[in-house]
Amino acid sequence: MDYPEQFDVIVIGGGHAGTEACLAAARMGAKTLLLTHNIETLGQMSCNPAIGGIGKSHLVKEIDALGGAMALATDRGGIQFRVLNARKGPAVRATRAQADRVLYKAAIREMLENQQNLSIFQQAVDDLIVEGERVCGAITNTGIRFRAKTVVLTTGTFLGGKIHIGLDNHSGGRAGDPPAIALASRLRELPLRVDRLKTGTPPRIDAKSVNFEGLQEQWGDQPEPVMSYIGSLDMHPQQTCCWITHTNERTHEIIQGGLDRSPMYTGVIEGVGPRYCPSIEDKVHRFADKNSHQVFIEPEGLNTHELYPNGISTSLPFDVQMNLVRSIKGFEQAHITRPGYAIEYDYFDPRDLKTSLETKVIENLFFAGQINGTTGYEEAGAQGLLAGLNAALKAADKEAWCPKRDEAYIGVLVDDLITMGTLEPYRMFTSRAEYRLLLREDNADARLTEKGRELGLVDDVRWAAFCDKRETVERERQRMASTWIQPNTPEAAQLNEKIPTPISREHNLLDLLKRPELNYFDVAGLKGEASTNLQVAEQIEIGVKYAGYIDRQTEEIERLRRFEHTALPLDFDYQTVEGLSNEIKQKLGNARPETLAQASRIPGVTPAAVSLLLIYLKKRG
Ligand code: FAD
Repeated sequence: MDYPEQFDVIVIGGGHAGTEACLAAARMGAKTLLLTHNIETLGQMSCNPAIGGIGKSHLVKEIDALGGAMALATDRGGIQFRVLNARKGPAVRATRAQADRVLYKAAIREMLENQQNLSIFQQAVDDLIVEGERVCGAITNTGIRFRAKTVVLTTGTFLGGKIHIGLDNHSGGRAGDPPAIALASRLRELPLRVDRLKTGTPPRIDAKSVNFEGLQEQWGDQPEPVMSYIGSLDMHPQQTCCWITHTNERTHEIIQGGLDRSPMYTGVIEGVGPRYCPSIEDKVHRFADKNSHQVFIEPEGLNTHELYPNGISTSLPFDVQMNLVRSIKGFEQAHITRPGYAIEYDYFDPRDLKTSLETKVIENLFFAGQINGTTGYEEAGAQGLLAGLNAALKAADKEAWCPKRDEAYIGVLVDDLITMGTLEPYRMFTSRAEYRLLLREDNADARLTEKGRELGLVDDVRWAAFCDKRETVERERQRMASTWIQPNTPEAAQLNEKIPTPISREHNLLDLLKRPELNYFDVAGLKGEASTNLQVAEQIEIGVKYAGYIDRQTEEIERLRRFEHTALPLDFDYQTVEGLSNEIKQKLGNARPETLAQASRIPGVTPAAVSLLLIYLKKRG
């Protein structure tokens, strides 16, 4: 049957990409439908119950700055919060939260159910309605046809999903969920490049069977970090402890002994796995000289005994899993509640996407999340938000938007994917961003919230909080710039105790803050009243201490910006550009960059080739 109403945006899949996508589209006023296998699994964490960490928290804060759900759900579900790299520079500092997966899911579901313009429907999608070269809707497995102006596909690990435990395998989307087989074969008929990837998860363990005596405890940080810019400590549930244990030589022997029944080492799995989240068999094989690896024991929630042993993801046969787990200190009597497994699935070459995450060949069809070759909730959420907002823009006949590499990690993620593609699951790192000092997790709101408001993504509450913070920072900066400390005064004496040589002339408070020995609280209250707001203090301190580096990065961005504005038509015939090598012509033809800047970032495209393109474009007019 045809569903009686037409939608602006249909989002398929209620994982991390899908939920951010449908929330973003609906916030912007688009009439949105979320079609997903199972309403009970909305926002489900398929693997470890944790959000954030290095590179990833930057994405979470950007999603938050654009009005998304992930950071707020983390504040409502987080049972342990830490700041990683706390002693390093501000560019690489990263908030990470252990989450109670039930609380996290409940928070996401509540936001979805309360979102205006959003309807949810539980059913598997088996087919897309494609007319000419344009998608017009989706068809469920019972034949209901939903029509929409745009469709966002966020099917995660489910397309042609195959679960492996040892040499046994079966079809599945993830443990306990069905795969999307019909949709996968339908998508393979479209002119999009498709391949296989794999990822894995560890066995879960019953805490009642673990001996915690002698295991190293790990508590969250004090003061307790908050994930969302509008989050607060009173949103956090009870906080809890994690533990650390280690694999040992015996564990590694057991693993080596099981490799002849490993689907990865016997060639049963063809898909490439995540390099930075390797299985324990991979670690033991690749780093044969190491006789121990760390295992973080993380609770799956406050009201469950299940534990997630982070670091022993595996697809070895179950008997090997049992033995390897029981060889680890504290796990001698461990009972496994769920076996570890690997999953292989279809993903699409992201070079077939535009920066809006719309496919280049099927108009109005957008892809986001694991389907684009990424791994991780945060990477999925970021793409979901972007695809959702662009689907809403397209449905309203408005121009697409994507942040640039110097504006957001979301921009880095999308640009990396669509210009370089990926042959292994792609995850975010701070090292992927060339303008790290500008793209910090502490300033994602300053970078993006105004744009989010303009797009209709940011509600009044968030906007008011943002404006208040921005004004307070500016007011405090001005106060500090116009507050002077004279030598030989009581204030100077107080200051001199903290610096190697006494001040000999007058300085304003901002100038004093440039000194490496001094922080905001050392100087701001010397005269007048220092702000008690830590976020304000942080913004002022980072702005002053890193001003030189920030200015240099800003100048470089200005220089390169003209390439960002030089468009390359999607049907550009690179064969006609004289002087380009055949190899570069082929690379450009495959990637079909949208701008000259994107072309310049394709591996193998030389600065000389970029100059040739520039000359050719100028001649063509
Ligand atoms: P998902 O979260 O998978 O959500 C997909 C959604 O689409 C689901 O709700 C599903 O029901 C729905 N769906 C699919 N097909 C259809 C259809 N035809 N019709 C209707 N609904 C459909 N990430 C890491 O960072 N590190 C790891 O170590 C890691 N290990 C993992 C191990 C396993 C076994 C799995 C399964 C995932 C792992 N992940 C890991 C990946 C992480 O779970 C994903 O990156 C993230 O969940 C991707 O989000 P997504 O929204 O793209 O897809």
